[in-house]
Amino acid sequence: MSSRDTTTSAGHAFGQAPQSPGAPPMVVLPGRKLFAERAQRLYRLAERVPALGGYLHFMARVVEAQHRVLQQARPSLTDTADLAIAHDIPPLSVDGLWRDMSWPQDLDVLVADLDDDVPDTQREWFESLKAAAYEERAKIAAALLSGEALTAEATAMAPLVGAALQVAWTRQARTLTHAPGRPKEAVRALCPCCGAPPVASVIQIGMARSRVRYLHCGLCATEWYAERARCPQCGDSQTLDYITLEDEAGKRVLPVQAETCGHCSSYLKVAQREWEQGADPLADDLASLALDMMIADRELARRTFNPLLVLGSPA
Ligand SMILES: [Zn+2]
Ligand SMILES: [Zn+2]
Repeated sequence: MSSRDTTTSAGHAFGQAPQSPGAPPMVVLPGRKLFAERAQRLYRLAERVPALGGYLHFMARVVEAQHRVLQQARPSLTDTADLAIAHDIPPLSVDGLWRDMSWPQDLDVLVADLDDDVPDTQREWFESLKAAAYEERAKIAAALLSGEALTAEATAMAPLVGAALQVAWTRQARTLTHAPGRPKEAVRALCPCCGAPPVASVIQIGMARSRVRYLHCGLCATEWYAERARCPQCGDSQTLDYITLEDEAGKRVLPVQAETCGHCSSYLKVAQREWEQGADPLADDLASLALDMMIADRELARRTFNPLLVLGSPA
């Protein structure tokens, strides 16, 4: 929020590599321990947010399983990535690749991995998902990726399908030999690797990325640079407001803010690693559902993509 942050990329041409040594990278591909660290974060959040404890604990198990499935080898789909990047096309485009991605196989392994651990409260939809044929699973995957509404039964199954989609895309993103450039201004709120919306933004810490904001892809976990104190949706910087959850004593509950934009009537969460090193854009988004409820009456659009959070799933 200081003026220093917003000038980090001043004069920078979109879609090109960082210009000077020590400048923050514009696009960062997902790391090897992404899901392992997210699972640990979710276990800690399950203890800190008792109202969502059971739900967050189960999601931690799901993410732990994602980490294991990510290690399994699948054919690479990145042969034409360099060509796509050269033409400013996301190399792992959802539209182009979703039928070729390994998500059906990854979903099978996820379901087998979790079978002994599913709590009784989640057993009904889990058994439905186990019994669902490819076509039914593909319908859920397609609806998730395109943001279409799901039936009540599909809504319950969707987070696990979403978990498989994340594994498939993250694995491919990790095999890219180099990251694409920052997205062009008109599509700045969409992932330069796969074209999906972010799950949230994160203020990074450490080395070249210290205090720099990134959008974190809800599908492939790539992070890309976004100015602080500027709405990634519409570019406005005059009508932003920041809301946090506080306890009765006025103390901050989680390292998460909702950045609301009056100009385009949307909001995006900001995970603040400056406040807490372990803050994770996806895990802390799940744990801060109370923040979404708190601002629900403002009728702001949540233009983000968290495949593990399909509305109604924590019920
Ligand atoms: Zn992505
Ligand atoms: Zn806006």
